[in-house]
Amino acid sequence: MNWKKLSSSETLLAEKFKKLKLESGSHSPSIFTFLQELPELKIHIDACFLSNPYATELFLNYLNDEVLSTGKIRDLLEFYPSQNRVLAALLSDFLKVDSGNIFIGNGAIEIIQAVLHRFASKKLLINIPTFSSYYEFVPDGCEVVFNKLKKENNYEINCSELIDKIYTEKPDTIVIINPNNPNGAYLNFGELEMLLDSCSKVENVILDESFIHFAYEDKNFNLINTAGLVHKYPNIIIVKSMSKDFGIAGVRAGYAVMDKEKVDLLLMNGFLWNSNGFAEYFFRLYTRADFAYKYENVRLKYIMETIDFMKNLREIAEIKLYSSKANFAMIEMLDGTTADELMSYLLIKHGIYVRNCSDKIGLDGEFLRVASRNKEQNQLIVSAIREFYQT
Ligand SMILES: *Cc1c(COP(=O)(O)O)cnc(C)c1O
Repeated sequence: MNWKKLSSSETLLAEKFKKLKLESGSHSPSIFTFLQELPELKIHIDACFLSNPYATELFLNYLNDEVLSTGKIRDLLEFYPSQNRVLAALLSDFLKVDSGNIFIGNGAIEIIQAVLHRFASKKLLINIPTFSSYYEFVPDGCEVVFNKLKKENNYEINCSELIDKIYTEKPDTIVIINPNNPNGAYLNFGELEMLLDSCSKVENVILDESFIHFAYEDKNFNLINTAGLVHKYPNIIIVKSMSKDFGIAGVRAGYAVMDKEKVDLLLMNGFLWNSNGFAEYFFRLYTRADFAYKYENVRLKYIMETIDFMKNLREIAEIKLYSSKANFAMIEMLDGTTADELMSYLLIKHGIYVRNCSDKIGLDGEFLRVASRNKEQNQLIVSAIREFYQT
């Protein structure tokens, strides 16, 4: 392949990278894989992983003060963590739903797999583009139907079209990711309720809110809590990862809110001690007022900087920025540049790692997904993209 704007040694590195990416399947290789396999590659900014870096720092401060420097780390390693039900009870006050409605997961991904395998039986309806695990974890014998989001509608869900599709296809399970990954498109609370009102015949409505802390509906950017919807819509299964908004993917913490009977059915398959000491420490922190207060500050700071970042990206004429209420945005190259070309340029010339969306089904064109990092890094990302188009 002929990489635009790269020297021959840089091209070689780009080819090696591409091979590594192909070998890693539908999720991007981790930073650890790169360090091991391509030591000559220097990644300075990981704008592929979708996390709030300020929240990671906040967690790390607490962990240092309360766990590492006090020697409490020994307890976390030596003893069993609390069981699933104990952690559910812990979150119950905070989420204002009964603990019987809460299921704790080793990351949201474990919940997605458990829910699909236990409850999706005949037909699963998924909006595409999407987070690939939703169709990769489908149990044998379950048919998958895609609702292809339209480019002319900026890959946003059109509720009435989706409702028509639900009426004709009659799926037993549907998936809504809000805000969606990879594009960050957002359904507001009113639209969501309208959709849920039309889904009473669907047995499982999976609502993945892994990016909901970055979304907002008012000018104060208040946090949106939909857990209470489980009382009105017993078919809803709200899935929440903590990896992105709290910047702690390595901890593996997630939870779901769903009908009590469903929680019980999942627990019959195990999940007794599926958390670990660090995840328990995190969940306890999450429910504490002092942490919540500080987290709210870093959440707001990050949202504000993300809005700024997107505004700057939107000004680059050669790309189209799709509007997003998550902490990342999808950009489309409009001038014939391929996703591979721009991605390789950013990675090899600047050590900026962004997500190539070429493997995402349901996209027509050349797209990258770029995550917001800290303010300084966001500026570097914008100027590197500008530079690509100017040289
Ligand atoms: C990252 C992601 C997950 C998985 O989160 P973990 O808690 O890290 O397992 C689930 N759903 C969506 C939409 C994601 O982007």
